[in-house]
Amino acid sequence: MLIGVEETIQWLKNYNDKLSEQKDYLSQLDRAIGDGDHGINMARGFQQVADSLDDDFDDVSTVLKKTATTVMSKVGGASGPLYGTAFLKMSMACKGKEVDAGVFAEMVEAALGGIKQRGKSEEGEKTMVDVWSPVLDMLHEGEFDAERLKKTAEDAMQNTEDMTATKGRASYFKERSQGNLDPGAVSSYYLFAELADVIGKGA
Ligand code: ADP
Ligand code: MG
Repeated sequence: MLIGVEETIQWLKNYNDKLSEQKDYLSQLDRAIGDGDHGINMARGFQQVADSLDDDFDDVSTVLKKTATTVMSKVGGASGPLYGTAFLKMSMACKGKEVDAGVFAEMVEAALGGIKQRGKSEEGEKTMVDVWSPVLDMLHEGEFDAERLKKTAEDAMQNTEDMTATKGRASYFKERSQGNLDPGAVSSYYLFAELADVIGKGA
C-alpha cells in the first residue's frame, strides 16, 4: 500500500501548509503572466479542504471526493474546476481499492485526462498539464520511488519556464510568457512533492 486514509489526510494538510507559505510567491508568478490570484485562490480553497478533513473517512476515495467538492466550490479562477476535476477523477479511480503504486498511476492518469478535457489543453501549452503528464509517464516506468516522483515533478515545473503559453490567461501574453514559470505547474509540483514527503516518511 502506498497511502491509506491517514496519509492522504496528512498529504492534503501538508499541501495546505505549503500553499499558505507560498501564497505570495504563487500570486507573484501569476502576476507576471496572469492576473495575480493563483496563490490566493489555492491557499483559500485548501484551507477549507484542510478544515474539512477532521471527520472520519472510510477510505482514500472518500477523502479525495470530499476534497474535490470543496476545491470546486472554494478555489476560484480557472484552477478551481481543474484541480476539482483532478481530485474527483482520482477519487473515482481508487473507489473500492487500496492505493498501491499501480492504482496511484491509474489515479494520476484519470486526473490528467480530466484536466485536459476540462481545460481543452494538451502537453506543451505551459499549464499544470506539463507537470501531471511527465509524472504519469514516470509512474508508468518501473518501480514507484517517492524521490523520483518529486524530482520528476520539479524538473517538469522548471521546464515550463521556457514554454510559450497557449491556454488560459497566460496565453494573452504570447511570447512574453516565456521566462516565467507557470503558476499552476508550480502548485502541481508542490502537490506531488508533499505526497512524496508523506510516502517517504512512512516507508
Ligand atoms: P485564472 O487563470 O483564472 O486566474 P488561476 O490563476 O488560479 O486561474 O490558475 C492559473 C493556472 O491554471 C495556470 O497557471 C495554469 O497552470 C492553469 N490553467 C489555466 N487554464 C488552463 C487550461 N485551459 N488547461 C490547463 N490548465 C490551465
Ligand atoms: Mg490567475
